[in-house]
Amino acid sequence: MFSTSSIELSESALKRNIRFLKNSIGPNTKFSSVVKGNAYGHGIREFVPMAERCGVRHFSVFSAAEAHVALRSLVRDSEIMIMGDLADDAMEWAIENCISFYVFDLARLHEAVEKATKLRMKAKIHLEIETGLHRTGLEGQDLLDAIDIIRRNPNKLVVEGVCTHYAGAESSGNYLRIQGQMHRFAQQCEWLKNQNIDIGLRHAACSAAAFVYPDSILDMVRIGIAQYGFWPSKETEMHYVLQHGQQATDKVKNRDPLRRVITWKSRVMSIKKVEKGDFVGYGNTYLTMRKEKVGVVPIGYSDGFSRNLSNLGHVLVRGRRAPVVGVVNMNSMMINITEIPGVEVGDEVVILGKQNRMQISVGSFSDMTRYMNYEILVRLPGETPRIVVK
Ligand SMILES: *Cc1c(COP(=O)(O)O)cnc(C)c1O
Repeated sequence: MFSTSSIELSESALKRNIRFLKNSIGPNTKFSSVVKGNAYGHGIREFVPMAERCGVRHFSVFSAAEAHVALRSLVRDSEIMIMGDLADDAMEWAIENCISFYVFDLARLHEAVEKATKLRMKAKIHLEIETGLHRTGLEGQDLLDAIDIIRRNPNKLVVEGVCTHYAGAESSGNYLRIQGQMHRFAQQCEWLKNQNIDIGLRHAACSAAAFVYPDSILDMVRIGIAQYGFWPSKETEMHYVLQHGQQATDKVKNRDPLRRVITWKSRVMSIKKVEKGDFVGYGNTYLTMRKEKVGVVPIGYSDGFSRNLSNLGHVLVRGRRAPVVGVVNMNSMMINITEIPGVEVGDEVVILGKQNRMQISVGSFSDMTRYMNYEILVRLPGETPRIVVK
């Protein structure tokens, strides 16, 4: 209530993205929707049921806290998988609620056996294998011991999957490292099968890997950024365009198969006329060169609009681009509306997304600052209301 901005989520855009992504990965691969980081800023509560309506039945989160929100948001009987942290009593809660989780060390595996015994239920685990990211993952003697524990506890543990994560598939600079990881993962999966244990689903690919390294699309993919309608990087997009060269040269509008799901809107809070030769806002970063009209938008760096966009960013008002002038404040920013006739207090301001024919992309934020798509999105505050639109 009474919020300074709102976020719209387009269900039709998501439906298209999911259809396109499922077509790309093929019918034999399970699609897991990655909704960590509050669904990349889109809002888990609104995004999860919307994704379920678009046919998604598997969600991946980082932490038990996120799994908790996701579970309460489910409308269908979708599965939830925790890829990272399990704090305090979270494991017991996860097992009770049939939520699967990654196992990347022996302590967690022992605990899983213990908790499953106590609850008289089976723990669903995904064995994370070290292949070269060197973040989390089982290797060497630990992996051998893990196999042993799994073999001795068939009534306590179900291996739902075996997985790994790549060290930056969105950048061609990592090509050799990713190739090495793919090779090691294939070897390890083969070796595990020869140990006579059922390894369940093999999964490794994120959005970029699914596009750039088709061989990484195994039994399941974990897709984050692309389902929200963003390419993981310009390189990944270029790779796609080159692979589908025919379409790239077509004069067809909207040939980008990914549609942005999010639109972030606010409004003009107040308007002021400033004389020629005056500074606008804190300090002296912006000096008027003539009589100018300045609008104030109640969005600032506390809302995730970076201070780095001071005197650099743009927003849309009345279908035109209005530049940010002066420094971005904690709760507001000033925009130059001198060139846009008829702007009134209360007019819609689009910070991210489309207005009439104009559009502000997340990419344009990234071009002006050092942030990646991912970082801009997850900075959107959790409290901002999310509205699902057609
Ligand atoms: C974030 C994440 C993904 C999804 O990555 P995208 O690039 O957003 O598709 C997949 N797997 C793991 C382990 C992750 O942490």
